[in-house]
Amino acid sequence: MKKISSFVLKIASRCNLNCSYCYMYNLGDKTYMNQPKFMSIDTITALAERLRSYCNAADIQFVQIVFHGGEPLLLSKEFFRESIEIFTSTCPDIEFSYTIQTNGVQLDNDWYHFFNEYQVKIGISFDGPRQQHDKYRRFHNGKGSYDDVATAVRLGKDNGLAGILMVLNTDIPPADFYNEIKQLGVRNLNLLFPDGHHSKLPGGFDMKRLSEAGYTPYADWLIALFVLWKKDKSRPTIRLFENIIALLMGNEQIGNQAMGKKTNGVAVIETNGGIEVVDSLRACYEGITRNNLNVHTGKIEDLFGDDVFELFYNSHEMVCEQCLNCPVYDICGGGFLGNRFSEANGFDNPTIYCKDIIRLVSFLQNDILESLPPDTVDRIGIEKMSYEEVLEELKRPADIPIDNSVKQKLISFKQLS
Ligand code: SF4
Repeated sequence: MKKISSFVLKIASRCNLNCSYCYMYNLGDKTYMNQPKFMSIDTITALAERLRSYCNAADIQFVQIVFHGGEPLLLSKEFFRESIEIFTSTCPDIEFSYTIQTNGVQLDNDWYHFFNEYQVKIGISFDGPRQQHDKYRRFHNGKGSYDDVATAVRLGKDNGLAGILMVLNTDIPPADFYNEIKQLGVRNLNLLFPDGHHSKLPGGFDMKRLSEAGYTPYADWLIALFVLWKKDKSRPTIRLFENIIALLMGNEQIGNQAMGKKTNGVAVIETNGGIEVVDSLRACYEGITRNNLNVHTGKIEDLFGDDVFELFYNSHEMVCEQCLNCPVYDICGGGFLGNRFSEANGFDNPTIYCKDIIRLVSFLQNDILESLPPDTVDRIGIEKMSYEEVLEELKRPADIPIDNSVKQKLISFKQLS
């Protein structure tokens, strides 16, 4: 049986910030307006009951619950306490791991102590130095949130902050960014490519330069960061780099929605109990994630009958022909599904970050090879890779043809008639 073991609970459909790039509020989809503002305890109870039967049937012993929003700290401590007790008492055979992803604005000592008591891992979304953070992550009155969030990050240093999540912003000089995370005492960082797709590119791309073969602004930024990071003897964990390196070293257990070849066993539970595919796909078009499934009326496994979820679950297998024939396919996996979308041909495209990924992966691969003793290089069996040669290879006729049914499925999501 296919397995979903990570559940992102949208416990609040509203937020106390109004970030300019947010897929919930400022990109392609406004359907959140029809959702209840907060998830109810009735919905948590219904979800726990569905989890018990689904996990039993699918032989799942370990489940990750991510409290997410909107802004999850708009709910009370009582809500979290009750929810965790309901999951534990309803599903005694499941081992739960809890995480909360917050914008950090309200995260004070009390909240840290509370989450530590319940062993909830805390992640904060952050955008770097004050000037850039405040440009994007603002309150509804336009005021920047840097001071509140920086305070929460500093507090977290001795209070078990699990990590910082940041959307890549190439406007920040990499050295400024690195200095910022060091002076805040961040120990664990993950970087996300901005939402966007072929019909709505993120602002980090200069449209006039898109057709240049050597134009890779995100990779250039990441490589500059990597060089600083590698030199630093007391460097924090940067998961994006560590994951790519692990994949290059042949670790098939590594992978997520954005890289590798693993299936994506992640579902979203909406505030009303709706069972959906991940909501970052909403940046593609209005209503893409919506279906009629709900924990109050149906089962979790019903999600496997949802077309978008089926594609998302298998998104590193269901890729366009170029990806199938790409030398870095095992690392990239075609990238995050939402970044492949175009109105003209649905998901039958490589990610918008294709060239950046080729540049970054080839740089990291060559860097690893230069750092290893020759006998280890022979043993792991990888060779130096040139960005330009990979681009040339992608222009050659494909050796591996795409299955026609996969191609039709990818194209079926196109929005232009
Ligand atoms: S690098 Fe480009 S062509 Fe290669 S797998 Fe990724 S998206 Fe596809």
